[in-house]
Amino acid sequence: MKTLRLILGDQLNYQHSWFRTVSSDVTYIIAEIRSETDYCKHHIQKICAFFLAMQNFADHLKAQGHNIVYKNLNQTRETATFSDLIRQQIKILNVRKFEYLLPDEYRLDQELKSLCSTLDIESKVYDSEHFYVERNFLKDFFKAKKSYLMESFYRELRKKNNILMQDSGPIGDQWNFDSENRKRIPANFPIPEALLFHNDCKEILERLTANNVSSFGVLDNNQIGWPVSREQAIESLRYFCRYLLPNFGNYQDAMLSENRNIFHSRLSFALNTKILSPKEVVDSAIMEWQKRPTEISLPQVEGFVRQILGWREYMRGVYWAKMPQYSRLNFFNHKENLPDFFWTGKTKMNCLKQCIEGSLQDAYAHHIQRLMITGNFCLMAGIDPDLVDLWYLGIYIDAIEWVEITNTRGMSQYADGGIVGSKPYLASANYINKMSNYCSDCNYNYKLRYGDKACPFNSLYWNFFERHRDKLANNPRIGMSYVTLNKMSAAEKEKILSQAKSYLEGIEEL
Ligand code: FAD
Ligand code: SF4
Repeated sequence: MKTLRLILGDQLNYQHSWFRTVSSDVTYIIAEIRSETDYCKHHIQKICAFFLAMQNFADHLKAQGHNIVYKNLNQTRETATFSDLIRQQIKILNVRKFEYLLPDEYRLDQELKSLCSTLDIESKVYDSEHFYVERNFLKDFFKAKKSYLMESFYRELRKKNNILMQDSGPIGDQWNFDSENRKRIPANFPIPEALLFHNDCKEILERLTANNVSSFGVLDNNQIGWPVSREQAIESLRYFCRYLLPNFGNYQDAMLSENRNIFHSRLSFALNTKILSPKEVVDSAIMEWQKRPTEISLPQVEGFVRQILGWREYMRGVYWAKMPQYSRLNFFNHKENLPDFFWTGKTKMNCLKQCIEGSLQDAYAHHIQRLMITGNFCLMAGIDPDLVDLWYLGIYIDAIEWVEITNTRGMSQYADGGIVGSKPYLASANYINKMSNYCSDCNYNYKLRYGDKACPFNSLYWNFFERHRDKLANNPRIGMSYVTLNKMSAAEKEKILSQAKSYLEGIEEL
């Protein structure tokens, strides 16, 4: 039976069982399509990376003998959505069956389900064969619980997949080395260069211009450094294991003005497009640790495994357990606009300037920059989570809704009221100064809570707790902040809150 199979831009799984057999009856379709370039305003590198990775994947399948239809933006002008495209191709190719892989985005999942219900040919959906567990595993695991504890989910997956286990317990007799992942990076500590490729985007840029696709961010020399083929992704993984893993855990939370990547892997794009599988990434890191136990300690490798086996699988589970309601949650009822400097990096706050400029430059920031600098500021400034989501979804190379929204709306904005985190992630300048070298080169003074040069993170921090007292004061994990706040003299508190008020009123000038 002639079959049409759809492959979405984040389904570039070179190892999927679909591709084990070559059949003249099966045609695969991969398409650059307006619904995907337009669902939010994307960083230019993000669009280019997706299109290049899709082209490389199509070329690989063609070389293996599969029938491939690749439609670029110029060819899909009349077919704005996947549904339009599939209906059109079913007629042109005269196929009798339509098949697709389970999408990771709710929006596309709904669209394709609804398309299939209206087709007059047979249709079938397959697993994408990427994640460790299936979509609803987390929902079933936590059943009726209100909050989902990442740590218990992670331990379950460690046991289930026999990862870093010995007999029935964790290797090293400890599940978690989180407390060893919070070191400040010493001055002049040697950090290897990030591995960058030179992928030419000229043709894609021409198509984007011809089709008036809007985007933002920087693209130097029409080239992107992100891995966009299987070979490049594997090279990136090897590079990470060889040079970066030995210090990954130690300096996971550290931030530096002069180096944006530190020891982070930059593998998220290759993972989220499924060019790499989480299993091969986790297995490679563990093998490297086993080969070089004196150079790589257990906390480094456990810290890395936890990000992928723990956080990544967990966020996907939360997404499928809570969508579509999740995308509308706004626990604090925050309504403010995102300041303009998020789009330009033009702010006197050095931490935000470094993280925003870096993101505009590379379509990348590491986790703590996203959580404790930009996310932290948005939360304290009361920015509408819809706008915060749109910014994160657009700017990062790895931003796909299932992992962006759970991290942004959930972990960083606490807009879900405690599904992902048991308390809001919030920090004043003291933390930022401890974990980075940003404060030493800033217009503001990290030690001051009010006054001319007072760091905005300090007054906004206390203002946030005061403002949301009704929602947070009874949270046992935040108790200490309220004890401190309650002990402050009325005069001191008044100065801090009026400083916050004036900073919020003039937020664009900060
Ligand atoms: P590394 O630090 O080297 O970590 C290795 C891998 O672990 C990553 O590639 C990623 O696949 C996984 N990982 C680490 N932390 C998380 C996490 N919290 N959730 C899920 N996976 C994780 N990650 C995305 O992939 N897409 C997003 O759109 C995204 N948006 C985020 C928004 C906010 C506000 C925050 C706080 C975090 C977000 N993250 C997102 C998680 C994390 O910041 C990125 O996965 C990470 O920075 C990618 O860089 P890396 O590959 O160098 O990661
Ligand atoms: Fe950021 Fe405040 Fe430090 Fe400046 S002083 S870098 S604004 S935390």
